[in-house]
Order: sequence, then structure tokens, then C-alpha cells
Amino acid sequence: EVRVRFAPSPTGPLHIGGVRTALYNFLLARKLGGKMLLRIEDTDQNRFVPGAEEYILEALAWCGIVIDEGVGVGGPHAPYRQSERKPMYKQYADQLIASGHAYYAFDTPDELEAMRARLTAAKVPNPQYNSITRAQMRNSLTLPEDEVKGLLDSGAPYVIRLKVPRKEEVRFQDLIRGWVVVHSSAIDDKVLMKSDGMPTYHLANIVDDHLMEISHVIRGEEWLPSAPLHVLLYRYLGWESTMPQFAHLPLLLKPDGTGKLSKRDGDRLGFPVFPLEWHGTDAETGQPTVSSGYRESGYLPEAFINFLAFLGWNPGTQQEIFSMDELVQAFSIERVSKSPARFDQNKVKWYNEHYLRAKSNAELAPYLIDALAEHGISCDQAKAEQIVGVMKERVSFPKDFWMEARYFFQAPSSYDEQVVAKKWNPQVSEALAAYATALEGAADTSAEGLKMLFNQTAEAQGMKPGQVLQALRVAVTGAGAGPDLFETLAILGTGEVAQRLRAAVA
Ligand code: GLU
Repeated sequence: EVRVRFAPSPTGPLHIGGVRTALYNFLLARKLGGKMLLRIEDTDQNRFVPGAEEYILEALAWCGIVIDEGVGVGGPHAPYRQSERKPMYKQYADQLIASGHAYYAFDTPDELEAMRARLTAAKVPNPQYNSITRAQMRNSLTLPEDEVKGLLDSGAPYVIRLKVPRKEEVRFQDLIRGWVVVHSSAIDDKVLMKSDGMPTYHLANIVDDHLMEISHVIRGEEWLPSAPLHVLLYRYLGWESTMPQFAHLPLLLKPDGTGKLSKRDGDRLGFPVFPLEWHGTDAETGQPTVSSGYRESGYLPEAFINFLAFLGWNPGTQQEIFSMDELVQAFSIERVSKSPARFDQNKVKWYNEHYLRAKSNAELAPYLIDALAEHGISCDQAKAEQIVGVMKERVSFPKDFWMEARYFFQAPSSYDEQVVAKKWNPQVSEALAAYATALEGAADTSAEGLKMLFNQTAEAQGMKPGQVLQALRVAVTGAGAGPDLFETLAILGTGEVAQRLRAAVA
């Protein structure tokens, strides 16, 4: 059975790299008829951020990523929060000690610091607690057995470390990268249990993936260096035959490709990196901070998801528009790329425009009605539908409807100066005044009728319609550009248009 998990640590808001990990897990689970789990990895109490777990749940729900089992849902392997599973981990650390694959280490922070300083002074490139350096430290491999027992009995603080072999090739097959081979001399003796009795990420992650019967571990590339260590843990715990398959997703790069997209890039570069707005605190000043999110910036979840799916995967065809169901059908790990994906804020906007325009006028009208209500203006559904209908090709976000369409509700208070300077003259004024009069007797008030009437009026004034058209737009809307002008006039109504024309030529 296919069982995948998304295993975030609640250390802050989920950024888009994390959402992409969740999405690919979800797509694979759905595609193969498996289950999607959510496990919260909160063993590092120092990095715990209140509100982060709620944020993760809300963000996944907004994206349409459905959790089958785990935090917020429950299931046969509950609890799914690692802090609530604390008593379960110790026995596995003990098992590793009993089988000779782990050991107690009693070194104080000062002793560890001194070791690092010694190695640095000796120009050792990457000072580590490992198969060589452990020989000089205070641990159950170097101390006499009775001294170890004495220390343990006296309650002296200790950690449990994995005993990584000195010379061994660790290899595993990554579904995206192929064979990964790492020499064990590059792996340090990682701490598995901390002195406070909490497991570290590595131990808890492996124990839980095993107990929760995870079949595929799909996660970001930043975890690739930990994978060989995880393979050793599966082996030493006797679980190698049911070890999950690994797939490490490509990095996400900044828009200019100069490095990894970071949580701080968003507001600095002018686009969101979080699915939802995040209210946090500045680590240095303690002041409240707000980071923008896709939801609050007016992105539709289907646009965000479609965009995200393509950050590291492609279907191998020209098709770019995919609903969640279509993504499930098309998705495969084989088509996830090894090379980094470059974040492109124009592309996500393009997706948003697409999904916005694909909506019916009836679906879009409430966005305008709500925005108008905030400005104390009421508008019925039918009129709102007409307005969003002429505007939707011109907007990128639902909130633009109000900005772009306010002239449907408010006569202009100023006029586009360039158009006024170039196109406005006494003759034009006269033509506009004549049109105002003609409108009051108009029989056909459809867009087509108003256009014919305009052409006739202009010609009767000895002018070509094109000479007056721009001025007409500016006089009525204040703006130099906009949607179809006669559609706009028809929505406004002849009385309102005549009044605005008189005000403009006065
Ligand atoms: N808790 C880890 C994280 O926050 C999970 C890594 C993994 O999927 O193994 O990304």
C-alpha cells in the first residue's frame, strides 16, 4: 500500500517549498490510490512557534490538499504529533545500544567546544564527532564499563549517539536522483537522544516512518545529506527490508537564479513566498511583523497549485493548465526534475489571470459587490455581473475589480492629462456636448445603438468619430484606457453619461 507523509516542523509559516512537498506527496498518494499522512515533527522545543501548526492546517486546506490520516484527522497510528509520542522513542535508542550501533556520550558543552577548537587548530576541514574523534571523548566506547554505569546511575547528563562505521559505502536508490553513494567517513555520529530525553529529528523520523508504514519519503533536497544516516538507522534497527523509497525534490531558486529561494525573499523582492499571510514577531526587536501570503494577495488556490505543480515537474506535453484532478492523473515521480526550479512571479500571475477569466460573471460578481460594500456603495448582482464581464480581461486579481471599475460608481474627479493635452479642443468639446444632448433622446441604448449614435453625432459636427473617441472615454471615465467604451456607456446608462459629459465640457 502506498502511504506518504508530509512531516513539517512547526517552526514558522510553511513556505512555498514546503507546500510543494505536501502537494507532490498528495498527488502521488491520490494517483496510486494510497494515503496521505500529516505528522507534526515538534521534537525541537526551542524552535517551536505558537500558531505554526494551525497555519499549516489552514494552508493545506486552502490549497485543497486533503489529509487522510494524522494531525487534525486522527487514525490508527495516533498520536501524530511527535511531542506526544515521546515515550515511544527511547526503546529504539536502547535497542541500538544493545546491538552495539549506538553509545552513551557524556561530554559537556565545554568539552565538545574544546574538541572542535583542537580540530580547527589542526586544520581539520570539517570538525566532527565521528569514528576517529570519538576515541578521545568521554563516552561508553572509551570509558570503563563500571564508570559508565556509575555515571548513568548518578543521573549524569548524556546523549545517545549513532556509532557510524569508519569505512563503509552507504548507498540507496533515490527515485529522482538514481543511486546515491556516500562514504561513511563523511557522516558524523549523530545524536539520536538528547540529554532532556527527547529524540532528535533523525531518530523520531525513522521510528515514525517505520511504525506508520510509510512507503515513500518525498521531501526537499535539503534532506538529501541526512538520507545515508537514515539508511544506516533502518539497517541497524532491522527494518531495511521495509525501508521507504526516497525521492528528494529539486531546490527552488530565486527569480534571478542566484540562490535558494528563502523565507525572507518574498516581501523584500515584492512577491509572497507564503500561501497565507503570516503574523509573526521579529526575532531581534520583538516587534510584530506581517509577511504577505498568496491568499490575501488575491491569488486563487487553483492558480497557486497549478503554478506550484510546475516548479520541478512537467507533464512532458505543451499543456500548462491543470486542475487538481488533472494533476493527479498526469503526475509521476519520474517526471520530477533533478535540476533546480526557478521561481517566476510573472508565471503565477499569469495563472491567476487565467483562472480568474475562466470564472463566470456570476462567480466573480461577489468580489466586486464585497469590495463596493467596503466603500459604502451598494450594487446588485445583475449590474455587478455586467461590470465584471467587461472588466475581467483587464484584471489580474479580484481586488482589481474595484480599482479598475470604480468609475462605474463614481464620476471622475480628474482626467487623464495626456489625453486631455492631445485630444481636447473646442471642437471636441462641442461634439461631446452634442452627444450628451443626443443621448437624452436615444431610442436604442444598447452598446451598439450608442456607438451608432456617437458616429452620427460626430459626423454631423464635421468630425471623424476617431477624433473624439479618446476624449469621450476620458470625459466619462477619467482614464485613458479601459474596456470596450460603448459597453461601458451602456452599463452606466444614458442619463449618467450625459451628466458626466456636461460636467467635463463645462
Ligand atoms: N520535519 C522535517 C521538515 O521540517 C521533515 C523532513 C522529512 O520529510 O523527513 O522538513
